[in-house]
Amino acid sequence: MDTFTACISAIAGLAGFTGLAGLAKPMNFPPPITRLTQHFRGLPGVGPRTAARFVFALLNKPDDELRAFGHALIDLKDSIRTCTRCFNISLQNPCAICADPKRDASTLCIVARPQDIQAIEETREYSGLYHVLGGALNIIEGVTPEQLRIKELLSRLDNPSPDLRSPSPPGRGQGEGIKEIILALNPDLEGEATSLYLAKLLKARVPRITRLGRGLQQGADLEYADEVTLINALKGRREI
Ligand SMILES: [Zn+2]
Repeated sequence: MDTFTACISAIAGLAGFTGLAGLAKPMNFPPPITRLTQHFRGLPGVGPRTAARFVFALLNKPDDELRAFGHALIDLKDSIRTCTRCFNISLQNPCAICADPKRDASTLCIVARPQDIQAIEETREYSGLYHVLGGALNIIEGVTPEQLRIKELLSRLDNPSPDLRSPSPPGRGQGEGIKEIILALNPDLEGEATSLYLAKLLKARVPRITRLGRGLQQGADLEYADEVTLINALKGRREI
């Protein structure tokens, strides 16, 4: 936090720098610029040029805007919690979805990332609960089932939750009493592999396992899918 604040303050003080002209490489930049550039480079899809562009764009902002930007970054870590039940991000634990008694606790939608929950919520087509895996299986990048929150998912299915809102039905789907699991993973190689793995693993535990219907383009990202496509995919979900 201190490093960041120092970077922001240093940049606010570098009012003389207003463009990239004359500065060929990031390594020639003054240290506060280089430091902040490195922070931006740590973000997905941001290369050295884009990172430098971000920093110089910030240099052109008024001081109070930079300070607000710094505070927003600090708040991000200080105020955001991870729900210990579904692993959604939230201001509270449990998250607002898990804590809402009006949600259908018999349906569980499995997603890779918290952003996917946001996309599905925007459709207003789904009223059940969620479980965030924290990614998808990826052999090339070495993402194995042990690195995803599958153990936690099985625990939700097998062990009664202390805040159960309805008693578990007998037989399959004990624990939280889940009757349907919707596998809402990206329609790409990793998403497919994860869906197949989970379907096999969960078959004996849950009466109905479905996946999103057709309509989502192969290789598409759930987070960026348009609302109508996502509504159709949810409505047209099919059993596997
Ligand atoms: Zn939650």
